[in-house]
Amino acid sequence: MKVLVINCGSSSLKYQLLNMEDESVLAKGLAERIGIDGKLIHERPGQEKLTFDLDMPCHGAAISWVMDALMHSDHGVIRDKSEIEAIGHRIVHGGETFTKSALITPEVEKAIEDVSELAPLHNPANLTGIRACAQNMPGVPQVAVFDTAFHQTMPEKAYLYALDYALYEKYKIRRYGFHGTSHMYVSQQAAELLGRPIGELRIITCHLGNGASVCAVDGGKSVDTSMGLTPLEGLTMGTRCGDIDPAVVTFVMDKEKLTTQQANDLMNKKSGVLGISGVSSDFRDLGTAAKEGNARAQAALDIYAYNVAGYIGRYAANMKGVDAIVFTAGVGENDISVRENVCAYLGFLGVDIDPDLNAKRGTALDVSKKDARTRVLVIPTNEELVIARDTKEIGGLLCW
Ligand code: AMP
Repeated sequence: MKVLVINCGSSSLKYQLLNMEDESVLAKGLAERIGIDGKLIHERPGQEKLTFDLDMPCHGAAISWVMDALMHSDHGVIRDKSEIEAIGHRIVHGGETFTKSALITPEVEKAIEDVSELAPLHNPANLTGIRACAQNMPGVPQVAVFDTAFHQTMPEKAYLYALDYALYEKYKIRRYGFHGTSHMYVSQQAAELLGRPIGELRIITCHLGNGASVCAVDGGKSVDTSMGLTPLEGLTMGTRCGDIDPAVVTFVMDKEKLTTQQANDLMNKKSGVLGISGVSSDFRDLGTAAKEGNARAQAALDIYAYNVAGYIGRYAANMKGVDAIVFTAGVGENDISVRENVCAYLGFLGVDIDPDLNAKRGTALDVSKKDARTRVLVIPTNEELVIARDTKEIGGLLCW
């Protein structure tokens, strides 16, 4: 069974075609600058990336080009569209409606639309992707996989904000959390790597990419996570501010005469390690600048590690202990110093990493010293695989 995974943004569309017999990736790529000029980057395992400049006025056109690339006589991997038996979509916000993945029906589409208010940048773009696929491949089952669903097991004490309760009742303002597919995947991989049942483990997963969040996974269930109503809360990120005193927002809006949109832009796009350093949101650039003596780049790295360690300490307290800490995503998987700096705070929890193991990259690995009480694992995430597995399970049922 072949499954197409789609992650649709407002002007981009990432895709991955998987053969679910052995869960191998047949091809993947990115359509970007949709509605501007259009570019397609198409990749097959072990082959060079191909880039095409294409006319791409809308997402429908982008999907057509993706299908063209997948079926192309030179660089294609399938002969006909009909080989794709189901399509899985990453949907950012499922609100309280979706606790697990769902087959896309008109009712499900409407429910995704209804929670769009909570993710105005993401859910409408995700819906555009669903509709473009429905037009291009009518009749192929489509499945929605939500970033928020894994966190729906959080107890009220973790998800409710200390605001007037009426705001929760009226607008469903609460913590939802994101990166759910990643936190779920790496926590399950961690249990496998440790050779222990996930039901008896307390794991803290750190998804550190451009966006970043920490999750407390107790017995395989998310019991708390650092992102909130939106992906702005929690850790200091590449360009997002994470936790700040809420009064800062109204203060700055007042002083700088900012509109809501401008304030949102400031917190989402001009803050985080980019805002502090003035250098970059990319940790490779920050590391280089800090080594060259840039004090603000160093401050950004220090603040980042301090905050990640702070969340780990908090969740260890909330779960009354921790067995393993997992690092994943672009920064978590690749940045040796970030892991080193975070772990330097955590000796009191029984963390003790081996510098040689911590310097390795690319595969799932326990980087702790032999006798360390709390294990530190580096595990490459694979959100597409989680989406494809759910799509196979839910969409596949309709194919036979
Ligand atoms: P993601 O959102 O998971 O794709 O992560 C993207 C981020 O990972 C980039 O902005 C970089 O900051 C970081 N990153 C990627 N590769 C490296 C690397 N080799 N060393 C340090 N940071 C990296």
